[in-house]
Amino acid sequence: NPSTPSNFIKNVITEDLKSGKVKEIVTRFPPEPNGYLHIGHARAIWINFTLAAEFGGKTNLRFDDTNPVKEDTEYVKSIQEDVKWLGFEWEELRFASNYFDEMYNRAVLLIKKGKAFIDDLSPDQIRETRGTLKSPGSNSPYRDRSVEENLELFESMRAGKFSDGAKVLRAKIDMSSPNINLRDPIIYRISHTYHHNTGDKWCIYPMYAFAHPLEDAIEGITHSLCSLEFEDQRPFYDWVVAECEMPNVPHQYEFGRLNVAQTLTSKRKLKLLVDEQHVDGWDDPRMPTISGLRRLGYTPEAIRNFIYETGISKTQGIVDLQMLEHFIREDLKLKAPRTMAVLNPLKVVITNYPEDQNEWFEVENNIENPEMGNRQVPFSREIYIEQDDFMEIPPNKYFRLFPGNEVRLKNAYFIKCNDVIKDEEGHVVEIHCTYDPETKSGSGFNARKVKGTIHWIDASQAVPAEFRLYEPLIKAEESDEEMEETEEKEEKTFLDQINPNSLEIVQGFIEPGMRVVAPQDKFQFFRHGYFNVDSKYSTPGHPVFNRIVSLKSSFKM
Ligand code: ATP
Ligand code: MG
Ligand code: MG
Repeated sequence: NPSTPSNFIKNVITEDLKSGKVKEIVTRFPPEPNGYLHIGHARAIWINFTLAAEFGGKTNLRFDDTNPVKEDTEYVKSIQEDVKWLGFEWEELRFASNYFDEMYNRAVLLIKKGKAFIDDLSPDQIRETRGTLKSPGSNSPYRDRSVEENLELFESMRAGKFSDGAKVLRAKIDMSSPNINLRDPIIYRISHTYHHNTGDKWCIYPMYAFAHPLEDAIEGITHSLCSLEFEDQRPFYDWVVAECEMPNVPHQYEFGRLNVAQTLTSKRKLKLLVDEQHVDGWDDPRMPTISGLRRLGYTPEAIRNFIYETGISKTQGIVDLQMLEHFIREDLKLKAPRTMAVLNPLKVVITNYPEDQNEWFEVENNIENPEMGNRQVPFSREIYIEQDDFMEIPPNKYFRLFPGNEVRLKNAYFIKCNDVIKDEEGHVVEIHCTYDPETKSGSGFNARKVKGTIHWIDASQAVPAEFRLYEPLIKAEESDEEMEETEEKEEKTFLDQINPNSLEIVQGFIEPGMRVVAPQDKFQFFRHGYFNVDSKYSTPGHPVFNRIVSLKSSFKM
């Protein structure tokens, strides 16, 4: 990994080490296991792991599993797999739920100090009395309960004596604070829900804003790095660490969220796409999840380079999708063999090529990387070309095949179109051509030139294959930045933005040398782009390729 660009968090760390404030940098990546990781998380992962490593420190992977209603072990598993695949190694694997006892004890400490109280108001009433940015909130009528009563009620909450929502534990801070997060925030709620890790042991769970600083302090995290939406929580973070008298004092620093154009970076929305079957699972190649990008054909290197380049400033701009694509092209340029595939085949018969003859051409696997060696490509009387490479009545400047015109077959011969065979409905089904043996590729022939070069596959040995061509799942001009969240009404708006043409399935052929491909093998198909063997639908008899990205790019670094 390249070292991080200079930025404000790095400056803080450098300063803290120099002043002796901390001896070793400890960070954490704290996902909630309520969905799969997406490209936005890659930034948080990269920042936490790379910054710590750069200063000889360490990083924990911690599951922030304090809300059992939405959490699942499927997500716990996938998150670990994705972090590893991205190329990061955690120091320790932790679960916030392992600290429930300690969190409970710290809450009791707050009650004893008169810093927390049990409130009987309903969640709605609490919201209503919280005030607004312009007006202060009002104190709960239960705010002045005695320490003894609060301790007893909290114990009863824990013992399961109340139903969900009947009571909460709130911090007692200041209902007129200009920071709404300090207006007696809820720190524990009742939820009679089975937890993936602690089972039925608990029926009260800590709120994220209370749990998170405690988790950081318990693990000895020095720099708690999170995305910018938590900035307003920082005062409460510091309050919790101080009032709970945690021996280690972590500090929170925020970085900008990564937003990519036409890309959803909200687990809630991605889960909706999965649940409503707009996609074929969390790892659908159109999903911006790490597992979706992997199945589409992205490499960890491409993703890391992309994240590095987008920087970690505090600004929250929208990154162009083309930039992500740029990095996979760059990564595969010298790694992927360059072969031929015909996606929408049209049969060509070379009438002057002997019927019982064939030959093999030796072809470089990657003209920019000679180390990848050569392969043999067969040629005979019948071949397939792309339907797009022939037109009966060509427009101006069309240099591919049309009646009377001659083109170069990549790595083979010049052929000239003499005849067009049609079915009863008038569709072109076959082209008849002649070839010129003098024009063989590599022979140095230069007596005449042609303007078009097209690719082809020998028909007698062609291997049938399926190609899946993708467009962004979300129509242009949309991203999470512009699509407001929270309301159900808006949920619908985002579903309205689904691109109905995001997947096109095409049948065609590949070279016989590629008969045996394995899932995740990557190729550059001449003129079509980079493709990856799909890990779900590809079978040994019938390869299925996902197009990762086309060859063309308008993106400039
Ligand atoms: P979502 O909003 O999609 O549910 P989240 O932020 O709730 O995501 P967490 O599992 O809590 O998901 O995220 C773990 C970490 O990843 C958090 O520290 C969060 O700040 C960070 N993170 C999530 N999304 C992004 C993003 N788009 N850019 C940068 N960091 C992100
Ligand atoms: Mg979260
Ligand atoms: Mg979130």
